[in-house]
Amino acid sequence: MCLQDDCIFCKILEKKIPSTPVYEDNLVYAFNDINPKAAIHVLIIPKKHIQNVTELSHNDPQTLLHIIDVAQQIADKEFHGSYRLIFNTGKEVGQSVFHVHAHVLTGEYLSE
Ligand code: 5GP
Ligand code: ZN
Repeated sequence: MCLQDDCIFCKILEKKIPSTPVYEDNLVYAFNDINPKAAIHVLIIPKKHIQNVTELSHNDPQTLLHIIDVAQQIADKEFHGSYRLIFNTGKEVGQSVFHVHAHVLTGEYLSE
């Protein structure tokens, strides 16, 4: 694990901030978003502190592929395999936590 002191998601990984677990393995942790935007809104984060999805794709593409597999597994269980995957990248489009996270939205029909 690679943890950064001032990062809220590193603190979640260290259990210094509580979260509701959905899935965990040696590469990633998935937990419920505190402010859900769909019936199921899960965040999947790598255990390594990496700033955004572009950095993840360059530095650790296997973990990025794995995040997609985990999203699919959650959707298979929760909503017929359908899900929306969002990576906000940059503060101008709403990234507020600079530890890469996939938003997995599922569990209900979503408008386009
Ligand atoms: P971003 O805006 O960076 O793409 O997404 C950050 C997400 O993290 C938001 O959807 C927000 O609700 C969620 N979030 C922020 N702080 C916490 C927290 O302490 N616990 C949990 N479970 N989610 C959080
Ligand atoms: Zn972090």
